Amino acid sequence: MSLIVFAVFIFFSAALGASMGSFLNVVASRTVEERSWWGEERSSCDSCGRKLTATELVPIVSWLVLRRGCRSCGAKIPLRYLGVEAAGAAIGALLAWRWGFSVTLIFAAAIASGLFLNALTDLYGGHVYDLFALGLGGAGMLMRIGGGFPGLTDGLLGALLGFGVIAVIIIASRGGMGWGDASLMAGTGAALGWQLTAWALYTGFMIGGAIALGLLASGRIKRKDAIPLGPFLALGGIVSIVTGPWFFSLFGIAVRWPWY
Ligand SMILES: [Zn+2]
Repeated sequence: MSLIVFAVFIFFSAALGASMGSFLNVVASRTVEERSWWGEERSSCDSCGRKLTATELVPIVSWLVLRRGCRSCGAKIPLRYLGVEAAGAAIGALLAWRWGFSVTLIFAAAIASGLFLNALTDLYGGHVYDLFALGLGGAGMLMRIGGGFPGLTDGLLGALLGFGVIAVIIIASRGGMGWGDASLMAGTGAALGWQLTAWALYTGFMIGGAIALGLLASGRIKRKDAIPLGPFLALGGIVSIVTGPWFFSLFGIAVRWPWY
């Protein structure tokens, strides 16, 4: 692949990722607010309800253009819209860079989208929805049919490992984490297989711990405050899809994803 073709490929993947982020943002917001997903087919201003035009719905670009606010009522557009779209773009570009133009890239994008959605509902509503966690696991197992019996077994082992580790923490800490986190990791495990799930748990806890320490040190949170863990577990899952095989190769272990 020439450099120009590669650059265009990465750019389009980032644009698709931003659009996916924008879409998942709507799904997560409506789920948390218990509104129907498909009722209003187009997005409208959160403040005045005016339907947005096509040019106001371009991910990232529209936010930068409309920074000063809605054209009708002047309401500020929440920064989280930009954050979610930028995160989507980054994930799209990273996955495309890592997996290239391949079927695996489609799998990786589907699984990363599921992880992203679960992170958003946990961030917005403090809740991991079993339906979305199950959907993630279901998609993972469907994908694994291509890997035959070993692929499916790896998915089951991953689900058991993910669920088991969180379950042990819940029981030992008596309420530090919720069962939603356990279903999220069961779904993640089915999609990632047991080795990448172990790496996802490790990176998720490390990133979560580092950010919690940072927030504590800066006084943004108190020791007793609860921090949702789901977004960090989901982030760990995405980091694992990108870096897992490389990490295991450092120890001479060949991990092939999505299956052997
Ligand atoms: Zn408005």
